[in-house]
Amino acid sequence: MNVDEALATVRVVGRPPAANEVSMLVAQTLADEVERQRGAVAHVRELHRPDPWGDCPTCAPDPEGDDLPYPCPTMRVLESEV
Ligand SMILES: [Zn+2]
Repeated sequence: MNVDEALATVRVVGRPPAANEVSMLVAQTLADEVERQRGAVAHVRELHRPDPWGDCPTCAPDPEGDDLPYPCPTMRVLESEV
């Protein structure tokens, strides 16, 4: 549920939402989003970890080519942004 959807549920009650209700909904919605994104980042980290040869087995440029050395481009971006 995003912030707009959360606010829409308050409006259904038939009165304007109180400031504290809006704050709580926004805070909960943001906390839910942070949790969802942490799960996504953990999944990416799971897929892009080094194999015993120090390569990222997920990032293979072509089926007959070598794997990319770890950290692969995906992990370099992830580490610089998160
Ligand atoms: Zn990778």
